[in-house]
Amino acid sequence: MASTKSNGTVAGTWKLMMEDGQPIKSPITVKYTKLFINGEFVDSVSGKTFETFDPRTEEVITSVSEATTEDVDLAVKAARAAFDHGPWPRMSGQERGRILNKYADLIQEHCEQLATLETWDGGKPLDIVKHFDMQEALGILRYYTGYADKIHGLTLKMNGPYQGYTLQEPIGVCGQIIPWNFPLIMFFLKISPALACGCTVVIKPAELTPLTALYCAHLSIEAGIPPGVINVLPGFGETAGAAISSHMDIDKIAFTGSTKVGRLIMEAIAKSNLKDVTLELGGKSPLIVMDDFDIDQAVEIANFGAFINMGQVCLASSRVFVQESIYDEFVRKLAERAKKQVIGDPFKGGVQHGPQINKAQFDKILKYIQYGKIDGANLLLGGHSFDGKGFYIEPTIFIDVEDNMRIAQDEIFGPVVSILKFKTIEEVIERGNKTIYGLAAGVLTKNINIANRVARSLRAGTVWINCYLVSAPDWALGGYKMSGIGRESGSYGLQNYLQVKSVITPLHESPWI
Ligand code: ADP
Repeated sequence: MASTKSNGTVAGTWKLMMEDGQPIKSPITVKYTKLFINGEFVDSVSGKTFETFDPRTEEVITSVSEATTEDVDLAVKAARAAFDHGPWPRMSGQERGRILNKYADLIQEHCEQLATLETWDGGKPLDIVKHFDMQEALGILRYYTGYADKIHGLTLKMNGPYQGYTLQEPIGVCGQIIPWNFPLIMFFLKISPALACGCTVVIKPAELTPLTALYCAHLSIEAGIPPGVINVLPGFGETAGAAISSHMDIDKIAFTGSTKVGRLIMEAIAKSNLKDVTLELGGKSPLIVMDDFDIDQAVEIANFGAFINMGQVCLASSRVFVQESIYDEFVRKLAERAKKQVIGDPFKGGVQHGPQINKAQFDKILKYIQYGKIDGANLLLGGHSFDGKGFYIEPTIFIDVEDNMRIAQDEIFGPVVSILKFKTIEEVIERGNKTIYGLAAGVLTKNINIANRVARSLRAGTVWINCYLVSAPDWALGGYKMSGIGRESGSYGLQNYLQVKSVITPLHESPWI
């Protein structure tokens, strides 16, 4: 039976699904734990290491080399040399594409090992990692591989006797900083467009989930990606991350993470070399359920949008606005549906909901559940953690939530959904936009006019109509307002790694001589 670690109250809806009551032992050992610089695994200059933990057991998986400023310098030197003098930006796009295709084949061959490491390090259900995360990551790599030989500029129609054209040149050495909630997808979302364009990268995985990025680094050499093109630096944000953001020899930063850290990165960029930047930050996305929509489908979509990946999703539909005539039926059915979530050891088949990533996130989520109660929302379902080891928290539903409550304003990054009641479409558009964020939104309705109106009125980077969290390599991912700057994925993501240069020349003998 469930009980909370923080306040001792009892819930008792779920039982953790385990194998003989014990965490399942990972079927692989960890091979790659050092920094990956210039094509080799090396110790950090300081010799420092840090531990990475299994969120199911709270036990150490392994120690990993810790990058600090000196290691960032070494990695940037290697990436700079590979960019300024190495073959990668100079080879034909076709050749780069051939090598990247080989890389994708190797990633595919190593799917089992990568998925296992991802589950072990991040607590994500293995079934979902295999069928979603792995496929998504590979899809992104293959998508950009196809672009490698299709990057070119335009011919300009000049006034007068001149000809002009643009070149699309790789932007240079890219610093990439990624979070822990989708480590593999984030790794490939960052490196794939950069590599297709001919850039070189220094990428820092999150300190909580460094293992799959290091495994992918080793496969890059086997694929034939030259040394120095990909450098992987496990380490902490305040040290390695900050050193990357402020480095004078990095040309571009791409970051995914919290709005708070996005701001620090912008500050570091402003105080260093004004490098180009893309930021994908937090969200508090509204899902609007109109009363003409099939209620069972709406429940399914809302359950998925709120609880997938244990709510650790920047795009999560964490504010669900339900039209008043269907409100009572919707919340009853959503609670019934959420109760069916299978919570347990993420290595066990059929489990949909594993532990949160670590103690800090676990405590933060439980604190917000307390805020929900204090601020006057009604706790309909969940709200508790489980006895024993592991950072497991129940899917949690608050109803009768008001716009100004902390659970309706702040990004919780856990399995906590706020349900809000509304009457009219005008009202819900205004309330949906009442947030500092603008990452995503959804609307469920059979009325095409309402769907179109909502899609155009919500200030969000993605609006899903009659679905939620559907993605593909060619969509554009990014946010309005404090959810970020720029777009990743698709052809928009490619532009992040290119500089445009205009070249102009007289058509006849130069008039200047
Ligand atoms: P979360 O709060 O979800 O862990 P963060 O935004 O803190 O998200 O972390 C996302 C990534 O940003 C991680 O790789 C982390 O190490 C890195 N990071 C944290 N602080 C900084 C910083 N000051 N400068 C650069 N990167 C940072």
